[in-house]
Amino acid sequence: MLDADYFRRWMTATAASVDREAQRLTELDSPIGDADHGKNMQRGFTAVVAALEKEAPDTPGAILMLAGRQLISTVGGASGPLYGTLLRRTGKALGDAAEVSEEQFADALRTGVDAVMTLGGAAPGDKTMIDALVPAVDALPDSFTAARAAAEEGAVATTPLLARKGRASYLGERSIGHQDPGATSSALMVAALVEAAD
Ligand code: ADP
Ligand code: MG
Ligand code: MG
Repeated sequence: MLDADYFRRWMTATAASVDREAQRLTELDSPIGDADHGKNMQRGFTAVVAALEKEAPDTPGAILMLAGRQLISTVGGASGPLYGTLLRRTGKALGDAAEVSEEQFADALRTGVDAVMTLGGAAPGDKTMIDALVPAVDALPDSFTAARAAAEEGAVATTPLLARKGRASYLGERSIGHQDPGATSSALMVAALVEAAD
């Protein structure tokens, strides 16, 4: 079972990993974006950690909904509302249970990923965060480490793709040959699920 502390650790581990990788995320956002993805993610997850400390929500659902609200209100870029929706809708799907099973979490995360696809209009293969999130959800709930590998593979596999959504899509064919920054940060979030379990 996964309790509130697990989800708190997921958010703090994501924040730490975003801090470590911020420069890389921004570098990936340079050729096919506006070179701010690292900064956007850092600003968002710093606010998430601060809000979790201040408000101390005590259920998995409340933790993820608060985190999602922070991302929506603090991140200016496209990724803020998208990741905010991911966490808010995942949290909402978890309800007010004190603990959730791996299966319940996997189902809730799929609801969250579906909401991101509805909001942003991206499908798998469009060279976005969806290309890391969908394979990760497909690998859950059996193995969080398999989900981590699937998300990393999904992120790497965005390199040869033509971007069809977001800022990178303005480049058309010139978006080919670059790994998507949002798929890369999604892989960090999924990897943090494993770190939070250690
Ligand atoms: P911005 O492009 O506004 O500067 P960020 O740089 O923070 O925002 O985030 C860019 C990332 O957001 C992209 O790499 C992509 O993965 C993701 N993204 C952008 N638009 C969409 C969309 N419509 N659906 C899903 N993901 C998207
Ligand atoms: Mg950007
Ligand atoms: Mg921007």
